[in-house]
Amino acid sequence: MEDHGAPFFLKRKDIAATPTRVMVLRLFLSQRTGLSLANVCDQLYFSDSSTVFRTLRLFVHKGVLHTVVTPDGERKYTLCQKDCTEKGHLDRHPHFSCQHCRKLFCLPGHPMPVPYLKDGSQVEDVYLSFGGVCNECK
Ligand SMILES: [Zn+2]
Ligand SMILES: [Zn+2]
Ligand SMILES: [Zn+2]
Repeated sequence: MEDHGAPFFLKRKDIAATPTRVMVLRLFLSQRTGLSLANVCDQLYFSDSSTVFRTLRLFVHKGVLHTVVTPDGERKYTLCQKDCTEKGHLDRHPHFSCQHCRKLFCLPGHPMPVPYLKDGSQVEDVYLSFGGVCNECK
């Protein structure tokens, strides 16, 4: 794992690389699964969840992370695809959660069904989650 990855990534997104931001981003880059606020605090041994929460909120605002609500109602954060920016997220893909280890994965490249609504209403967001057993838990 290259060490300059996280600071470089932040710079490209126009985010000042504070130690907390670098640590949080590095965690996401190394795990590639969804993490809740509590997961991030636990894994980084942070007792001050408000700092971590502000960092996660900034990352969502800047197009670094997107949020997913799991079937258990837990909010998780996961890395965005390359093209998300401050102007908007392009993470229109389903998610998969393992019912055993509760890991959450993005499924980019799977098209989302967008229904055409007869009354003229326009669908702007689609949430689609699959549950099952991941490769490691099978
Ligand atoms: Zn995004
Ligand atoms: Zn699993
Ligand atoms: Zn995703």
